[in-house]
Amino acid sequence: MKMKIKRWQAVAVWKWDLPDEDDVCGICRNVFDGCCPDCKSPGDDCPLIWGQCSHVFHMHCLLKWLEQESSRGQCPMDRRPFVAASA
Ligand SMILES: [Zn+2]
Ligand SMILES: [Zn+2]
Ligand SMILES: [Zn+2]
Repeated sequence: MKMKIKRWQAVAVWKWDLPDEDDVCGICRNVFDGCCPDCKSPGDDCPLIWGQCSHVFHMHCLLKWLEQESSRGQCPMDRRPFVAASA
């Protein structure tokens, strides 16, 4: 039986550069390519949410943040009232 090496190489192309400040969630500091600490797999299970202030977070992180009274419904990055931007 022959091994299909080609496929294996494609998987190895994944890049793990150090994330830019812009590429990480301001709440959990995980990259947007990944998921929030509560989720196991990125993608549809762990969507991102954009604010009108142009900050982006994992939706789960933001919801957890907004549940805290101290958040006052504000963006954790700039303390402006957080309003989700329509996609
Ligand atoms: Zn996050
Ligand atoms: Zn999540
Ligand atoms: Zn913001």
